[in-house]
Amino acid sequence: MTARLIDGKAFAATVRGRLAERVKTFVAKRGFAPGLAVVLVGDDPASQVYVRNKVAQCAEVGVRSLEHRLPATTSEGELLALVAALNADPAVHGILVQLPLPKGIDETKVLAAIAPEKDADGFHVVNAGLLATGGACTVPCTPLGCMMLIEDVLGDVSGAEAVVVGRSNIVGKPMAQLLLRANCTVTIAHSRTRDLPGVCRRADILVAAVGRPEMIRGDWVKPGACVIDVGINRVPRNDGSGKTRLVGDVAFDEAKVVAGAITPVPGGVGPMTIACLLTNTLSLAERS
Ligand code: NDP
Repeated sequence: MTARLIDGKAFAATVRGRLAERVKTFVAKRGFAPGLAVVLVGDDPASQVYVRNKVAQCAEVGVRSLEHRLPATTSEGELLALVAALNADPAVHGILVQLPLPKGIDETKVLAAIAPEKDADGFHVVNAGLLATGGACTVPCTPLGCMMLIEDVLGDVSGAEAVVVGRSNIVGKPMAQLLLRANCTVTIAHSRTRDLPGVCRRADILVAAVGRPEMIRGDWVKPGACVIDVGINRVPRNDGSGKTRLVGDVAFDEAKVVAGAITPVPGGVGPMTIACLLTNTLSLAERS
């Protein structure tokens, strides 16, 4: 059996197309565009690429992006002052502070300073609490994108066994909450889980968010399962070129002959993350 390939790139393009229409309607009604403030502190190369992509995709759908690039020497106080100014700015509907922040700046403190009603990433504890208690909230972009892919492939997932490997606040935990909200029976696995292969083998829906290249092997996958690979890992190419390539947390070639559907890396979950960031920004603007 060969799994259906879940094309996140194509799906994200469709989401952006629909979003562009919604933004047009918003602008016609309200007379201004939704605004997303993107704050980048320091010169982490991966963050530079992410921010560039976010800004470009904002332009594509008609969201106004306001970039704030600060040097690595920025103090926590200066960053908190900027967040306070953005909270007070009526042209800003969503705020995103790109992580990781340079050493010496407390990420938790900065994320907590963002007004929950402008929290485009959905990382604020108020939004995390609302997600856990079933309230209306902003959902973190990566798990939201995963859930959209899962529902596109499977439709109603009520009663399905879902296993999420990884329990971070930005991926694993909100992913588990979304699956629970969709009436799955959810297991969250992590580095202390006993018999991880056995736990994974129970899953009709298996979400890997670990950050370990190809850790989840083909024989950990239940035949026919829907496999969502969040991991982005850079590993050396095997061709002696000295170059690198991206792989996920799932051994794709092994898993694709067992799974019913699977996301590739790259081109699976990754493109959905930015599409969901833009969706969150528009929703925040609509609620403002
Ligand atoms: P974290 O490092 O915050 O969390 C990793 C989780 O994996 C932890 O809960 C950890 O368990 C668990 N883990 C680590 N080793 C093992 C193991 N051997 N067995 C079982 N569980 C293990 O990572 P993130 O959640 O931030 O990200 C996960 C991956 O997703 C990364 O590759 C990241 O690059 C990628 N990512 C991709 C995004 C996208 O847009 N596609 C967006 C965000 C992340 P414990 O808690 O016990 O330590």
